[in-house]
Amino acid sequence: MNASFIEAASPHVMNTYGRLPIALSHGQGCRVWDVNGKSYLDALGGIAVNTLGHNHPKLVPALQDQIGKIIHSCNYYHVPNQEVLAKKLVELSGMSNVFFCSTGLEANEAALKLARKFGHDKGIERPEIVVYEKAFHGRSIATLSATGNPKVQAGFGPLVEGFIRVPINSIESLQAATEGNTNVVAVFLEAIQGEGGINPMHMDYLKAVRQLCDERDWLLMIDEVQCGMGRTGKWFAHQWAGIVPDVMPLAKGLGSGVPVGAVVAGPKAAAIFQPGNHGTTFGGNPLAMRAGVETIRIMEEEGLLENAAQVGKHLAAALALALSAELTSGAIKEIRGMGLMIGVELAKPCSALVQQCADNGLLISVTADTVIRLVPPLIMSATEADEVVSILCPLIKQLLTDAS
Ligand SMILES: *Cc1c(COP(=O)(O)O)cnc(C)c1O
Repeated sequence: MNASFIEAASPHVMNTYGRLPIALSHGQGCRVWDVNGKSYLDALGGIAVNTLGHNHPKLVPALQDQIGKIIHSCNYYHVPNQEVLAKKLVELSGMSNVFFCSTGLEANEAALKLARKFGHDKGIERPEIVVYEKAFHGRSIATLSATGNPKVQAGFGPLVEGFIRVPINSIESLQAATEGNTNVVAVFLEAIQGEGGINPMHMDYLKAVRQLCDERDWLLMIDEVQCGMGRTGKWFAHQWAGIVPDVMPLAKGLGSGVPVGAVVAGPKAAAIFQPGNHGTTFGGNPLAMRAGVETIRIMEEEGLLENAAQVGKHLAAALALALSAELTSGAIKEIRGMGLMIGVELAKPCSALVQQCADNGLLISVTADTVIRLVPPLIMSATEADEVVSILCPLIKQLLTDAS
């Protein structure tokens, strides 16, 4: 493969992404190389997926061992590591049972089905689910209907009905929108909205929603697909609020690059699905389960929650220092997030930074047009975080001084 291949793009692949003219060849830790030998520091981690970075010395041999034994069997049989990973996720979350699938939207789709059947089981014929402005839950018809972004929905109507949309962090809005509505069965939220621009739910708000769900017998369903699996310095971002959800979809970082999705359910939702209600061919397969088990084991061995918290704090502080003048002037609105999930919101669109950073050897993304998103591997060191700042901040300053 060479540069001309990249310029010619991929004429047989559907045109679903505005791709950069880069093809990555291999990686080591937080660094990746493209097919032309150029190296990049990876502050995107395959969109919050590559928990252990690239070519991890413990993960790779474990996966090689697994591939040599059995990759896929199917859910007609027991997969022993399903029980190992489920037990681990139950311990880490304080919840009770797990359904395995392969992607985030699939985990969310299962959550939505759980909520609807929770309603039907108690005689609610037309269950309704509270969802949020700026939410992102995936690209299936149901999950794009739950998503709070008109761009994601455009062209795919009619949308799935049964959603009530509210703004984040307003318990009054949630109460007003559901006042007297006996069809409500669940509240579905991201603890920190990812695609919507790194928008954290306030701890007090999460506690108040938990309380309201208890009072009204609604399921609290927290989409931790992006903010979960240690990224914020706790296993799950909602744990900072000291609450436990009833349903928790996971994916992205769970398999450190191997597609693994899961829905973790607490006692209120753990027994809703019975044989025949839900299923998947790939979900829970031996390769995926080995990846999940080993990812968590290595995270624990290497103290990656602590690392995410510490290096995240270091990175956010270094960004704030380097960009203090821009924060004061308002050219940068806010630096927010937790652990290694950081958003830098500019007062103007900044998508051009993605290519500019890549040209300078740094992989990032921009979401919601104006928010630089940093979701690197959880193994990132403070030195590497400093390198992110030293490449990114001059480019931000330059973009801000360019006439817009
Ligand atoms: C990425 C994401 C999804 C969708 O996951 P896929 O694996 O792309 O289907 C759902 N919810 C959140 C919060 C996400 O960040």
